[in-house]
Amino acid sequence: MKKLLVNLRKSAKLIILLLVGLFIAVGILYFLFKPMYIVRLNGEIIGYTDTKKQLQEEIDKYMKTGDGENIAFVEIDQMPEYEICYSKKDIKANEEEVLDTVIASGTPYYKNYAILQSGEEKLYVKTFQEAEQVIADLKEKKSTNAESITYVAKYSAEQLENTDVATAVNNLYLAPVVTTTTTKPKTTTGKYATTGSANTSQTVSYDKVSLGINLIRPVSGTITSRFGRRSRGIHTGLDIAASTGTPIKAAASGTVTFSGGNPSKSYGYFIVITHGNGVQTYYAHCSALYVKAGQTVSQGETIAAVGSTGNSTGPHLHLEVRVNGKCYNPQNYLY
Ligand SMILES: [Zn+2]
Repeated sequence: MKKLLVNLRKSAKLIILLLVGLFIAVGILYFLFKPMYIVRLNGEIIGYTDTKKQLQEEIDKYMKTGDGENIAFVEIDQMPEYEICYSKKDIKANEEEVLDTVIASGTPYYKNYAILQSGEEKLYVKTFQEAEQVIADLKEKKSTNAESITYVAKYSAEQLENTDVATAVNNLYLAPVVTTTTTKPKTTTGKYATTGSANTSQTVSYDKVSLGINLIRPVSGTITSRFGRRSRGIHTGLDIAASTGTPIKAAASGTVTFSGGNPSKSYGYFIVITHGNGVQTYYAHCSALYVKAGQTVSQGETIAAVGSTGNSTGPHLHLEVRVNGKCYNPQNYLY
């Protein structure tokens, strides 16, 4: 029994001795070496860290937010790899260098706000507040494209050229189209504007008065209707048929006091020449007018062309000779 006890004590002593030895050995190892992480990027050692968790957190944060102006995030193709090792204490951790190397390997993405017009990118501003301001300003200035302007966050690997709000507004502004209220053109009833005025009331006289001037034939042609009474009313002039476009000549020199008319009413296009002594000649149903009121014409001058405008059934000249407003028979003076 006694022998057994002695053996036990011997064993305990031995165990204690071994534990102390181990403790000292670990202490020496710990004093000389410490646990570290080798950091590799794409297979290459880029540094060492003893705070792996903290380093990786910093890398993650950088990827999410970037750190430069307008850098939205950083894309890093390859994440660093960590390998535990026990290094001699003279190897120093260098997290900052590791971080720099990782960052340098990444691609920063810049965030800008693209201003679009009808979906097309026109220019870029830095912040969404600026983008909002650009749209608000365009609306206030009543830019015609204000409704088609939108903006969108834009991420790009290259920093885009930004403009400030004022420049953006200037570049995008489209002035409203000024609708000039055009004064309605005088409604002309045909292609010939009316100039001057004419008396179209029709009173006739069968008297043969002296005109004091000599008249010549305005056109040569066939007389198709003479002056005077008809079954329906009175014919106030002389009708001479001629083909459309035949030149009509002034029966005597004078001043044009009317040129124009309505091609769909009574005389159609017609001309009045005032000769003096109260004498006027009327040329009706014209197809073309070559003179305007105010113009002086000499006898035989072409003033119009034969036509069938107005109340007419075929091309002819309706010639009237008036004295002080009354219609006289033209055949008293010519034809
Ligand atoms: Zn007639």
